[in-house]
Amino acid sequence: MARYNQAVCRLCRREMMKLFLKGDRCFTDKCAVERRAYGPGQHGQRRSKTSDYGTQLREKQRAKRMYCLLERQFRKTFFEADRQKGITGDNLILLLERRLDNMVYRLGFAKSRSQARMLVCQNHFTVNGKRVNIPSYLVRQGDTVSIRERSKKVKAITEALEGVERRGIPEWLLLEKDKFTGKIMALPTREQITVPLREHLIVELYSK
Ligand code: SF4
Repeated sequence: MARYNQAVCRLCRREMMKLFLKGDRCFTDKCAVERRAYGPGQHGQRRSKTSDYGTQLREKQRAKRMYCLLERQFRKTFFEADRQKGITGDNLILLLERRLDNMVYRLGFAKSRSQARMLVCQNHFTVNGKRVNIPSYLVRQGDTVSIRERSKKVKAITEALEGVERRGIPEWLLLEKDKFTGKIMALPTREQITVPLREHLIVELYSK
């Protein structure tokens, strides 16, 4: 499986926003966006005019990087969103949120989405009692995501759960920390998903 393995803080600096790719560090003053609020590299501090295409492209890159997807996976999700009824942008964000790796992160079982993806691939979770190790698996309303019995002592998971209050749990999820279980109480509306993305720009980009 292809993956990005360069310094991830550069991605946040490139997008000029916090993408929360590094877990606890993102909430401290060590965050690279807090310390150097300009683009990475030799020309990072240059001001340049951005075209409409450039703005749309940046928004797509932000979404893709925030959810830790590569281009092909992201594009596939977009076309799936486009096929569904309703507003394509809203569908896209909801599909991204429904991914199992995102849900593991949102429920606080992992400190970041990339860690969540790794833990899912390592077979640490069940959905409604069945083992699932596919990060792109889409959860539904009423589903229960649990940590497998043998995985309850995995250091990455216990450490992530310790800091769950600081990161916060969305209102549409219910975490039962002592039972190592989380439930999807409802699928969120776009307003409830607080990611600062302008998805209409992504729709415009792919509609060209
Ligand atoms: Fe991004 Fe987190 Fe690095 Fe800050 S610490 S730049 S939010 S990955």
